[in-house]
Amino acid sequence: MPTANDTRLRAPKRLLFGPGPVTVEPRAYEAMRQPVVGIRDPFLLQVMDEIRTGLREVFGTKNQMTFPLSASGSGAMEAAVGNFVRPGQKFAIFTNGHFSNRLLAMAERQGTKVFRREKAWGEVFTEAEAREFIAETQPEVVAFVQGETSTGAYQTGKAITAAAKEINALVIADCVTTLGAMPVEIDAVGVDVAFSCSQKGLSCPAGLSAISVSPRAWEQLQARKEDPFTWYLDLKLIAKYFEAPHVYHHTPCPPLLYALHQGLAVVQEEGLAARWERHRHAHEQLMAGLLELRFEPVVKNPNDRLWHLATVRPPAGVDEAKLRARLTEEHDIEVAAGLGEFAGKILRIGTMGPLATTENVDLFLSALRACL
Ligand SMILES: *Cc1c(COP(=O)(O)O)cnc(C)c1O
Repeated sequence: MPTANDTRLRAPKRLLFGPGPVTVEPRAYEAMRQPVVGIRDPFLLQVMDEIRTGLREVFGTKNQMTFPLSASGSGAMEAAVGNFVRPGQKFAIFTNGHFSNRLLAMAERQGTKVFRREKAWGEVFTEAEAREFIAETQPEVVAFVQGETSTGAYQTGKAITAAAKEINALVIADCVTTLGAMPVEIDAVGVDVAFSCSQKGLSCPAGLSAISVSPRAWEQLQARKEDPFTWYLDLKLIAKYFEAPHVYHHTPCPPLLYALHQGLAVVQEEGLAARWERHRHAHEQLMAGLLELRFEPVVKNPNDRLWHLATVRPPAGVDEAKLRARLTEEHDIEVAAGLGEFAGKILRIGTMGPLATTENVDLFLSALRACL
């Protein structure tokens, strides 16, 4: 703590084994100390272009309209809904956790006709369920969450996009947690609008997000007659800053952009497939250790589990709040509690970016054993 004559800040060094924010990639931290430049400085414009290229790679897309946004993941969610879900349209959403409920709440505020297909938390939707719901509701826009951070469930989205394509509906996918840690591949999956954030799979500080829009969705946006309600997240205005003539829209934060640039460079140097594999491997090691300690997985089917976020119920007699507090006090480790209906019931343990290694999983498991 600072004393009376020393007002410097000293943040504790925690290992963030949660669902995000996660431990920041060291190179991203270093990059944030670089000088701030003006918003149309050629250097910043180049950084921005390189970020856009890096984002296309992690999203698995050729979409020209791929940008970082000055907002956390929820801001990108709001941009997706605000630009592509119009008043009076039919919007169909698959809900199986806290974040799909958030998407639904945002769509309701757009004056859209919302249809929901609900599933128990921890489960994902089958092809038959996706087909039935979409055929029954005939929506203009369909949305789902690829990585449900509240439950640990992973839905590739292929079943949903296939059904949506049959009726020519636009598909919005929340890739906030999956991006940078597991297969997202929006072009192959057939997603039209995908969004994510900086502080999860990409292991950068929070404060930025990303959005990628297919040519088809972009055309629909151009044809939209009324302006979106959101000015700050109006993608047509934002695009004029990213592309020539780089018209001022709002002031971005260069240090955060530098960090994201380096976070993406680290992904590129390791190779996306190698990075996914490293996360899968860490996940298997962590899950095996947790099962041995009698934790019970929330997501029953191992194929439906996120590779970088283990969600478990603690063994009988173990108080999850006390366990989390001890991990922080005695080992400087943070893990997360459950959200919504899982509050007080589960633990969410992330192994993302620099934490997804054999040594770090070993370190975590021995700290956990010591606390039990
Ligand atoms: C974290 C998260 C969000 C919200 O992102 P913020 O950066 O917290 O605003 C949205 N969707 C999912 C699936 C998330 O995990």
